[in-house]
Amino acid sequence: MINIPKGTKDVLPAESYKWHYIEKVVRATAETFGLNEIRTPTFEHTELFARGVGETTDIVNKEMYTFEDKGGRSMTLKPEGTAGVARAYIEGNLADGAQPVKMYYLTPVFRYERPQAGRLREHHQFGVEIYGSDSAYADAEAILVAKTLFTKLGVTELELNINSIGCAECRAEYNRALREYLAANIDDMCPVCRERYVKNPLRILDCKEEGCKRITAGAPKTIDYLCNGCAAHHEALKGILTSLGIAYKVNPMIVRGLDYYTRTVFEFISTSIGAQGTVCGGGRYNNLVEEVGGKHTPAVGFGMGLERLLLVLESLNLPVGEPEIPKLYIAPLTSAEAAEAYKLVNALRASGISADTDLMSRSLKAQMKYAGKRGYEYTLVLGGDEIASGKAALRKMSDGSEKVVELDKLQEELKG
Ligand code: ATP
Ligand code: MG
Repeated sequence: MINIPKGTKDVLPAESYKWHYIEKVVRATAETFGLNEIRTPTFEHTELFARGVGETTDIVNKEMYTFEDKGGRSMTLKPEGTAGVARAYIEGNLADGAQPVKMYYLTPVFRYERPQAGRLREHHQFGVEIYGSDSAYADAEAILVAKTLFTKLGVTELELNINSIGCAECRAEYNRALREYLAANIDDMCPVCRERYVKNPLRILDCKEEGCKRITAGAPKTIDYLCNGCAAHHEALKGILTSLGIAYKVNPMIVRGLDYYTRTVFEFISTSIGAQGTVCGGGRYNNLVEEVGGKHTPAVGFGMGLERLLLVLESLNLPVGEPEIPKLYIAPLTSAEAAEAYKLVNALRASGISADTDLMSRSLKAQMKYAGKRGYEYTLVLGGDEIASGKAALRKMSDGSEKVVELDKLQEELKG
């Protein structure tokens, strides 16, 4: 027996309806915001993530599934959704079309992490990407998509946390202050953070090591170092959220784990699913497109973990869709009626009704046992008499009631 790889999950047939439900609500929500789906490859050149996500992030440092293909190229399974979209924006010349470009994706994401509740090696994300606008309304728009989705799913408990981490201009002064604060403790930090100290000290605030967390507890906050432009942008976003009645908390501790963020960062955090409580994380990344080889393009977006979202729905006993139960099982009484039953079933399928019949040449008793287990809404036994008269008893399985119907009217009967 070969087992499933650690940190991955099967979605078995009896559970897949939950995913269909979430994906349906996601797509419907994205559509009302005028977002179009973008699909990018499952793997990209490793270099894209190294440059786009950033060498000083946990993702690039230790979580990527990287392999050499048979042509000797270094490839990496998507560890997040945004870098591929930025590459496609450049390669697809999307900057030449109408701006902003409003996109969404649904994608598997691969990260080599220690598996635990809400932390997998393959998980799935819904993401939004809005390219070309620097307005705080675009930041609000991304937040609104997530918020609207949660509302449609009945989730009200997620807390919106926002922060601003500034731009290249204010970051320089902030980095100076942060380095100064951390200088005395460099030797006590983890090796990765010692490197971050030189390359990108802001990342140290996002380190999960207990020692580093203790050191950064009283560190200077980006929000206190914003330049005029970044401060005005942050105020504008707060104003828009307030005018829409969207509750939020300014949380100066949120810096997000990716190098490409500028200005706004935000998270929706749950209190009902334990330690892995961040369901959605996003922000603005004005330098990303340039970083991966395009023209300067302001952009904002988020990634939402769908496994964590499902955990929230289930832990709050919220609806997760309905099991997909097939409508009708037609049981041929004997093998003599099998061909007729098969014809009837396929005529119903052609008109959009889910119908099944025997595929194992079983006795009527065994067939009815199967139909009961599978949970068909209706059953119908097709014998010689039924074929001769063109009529049969349609049995509703929930209450056992029967109604004699004409076989060539079955379609209308079941559609109603
Ligand atoms: P965390 O701090 O929990 O590691 P992150 O900052 O690495 O999260 P992002 O890169 O922002 O996460 O990914 C967006 C969302 O994807 C997260 O908010 C979370 O819901 C989900 N997510 C991230 N990593 C995992 C994982 N290993 N397993 C399941 N879901 C994940
Ligand atoms: Mg992570």
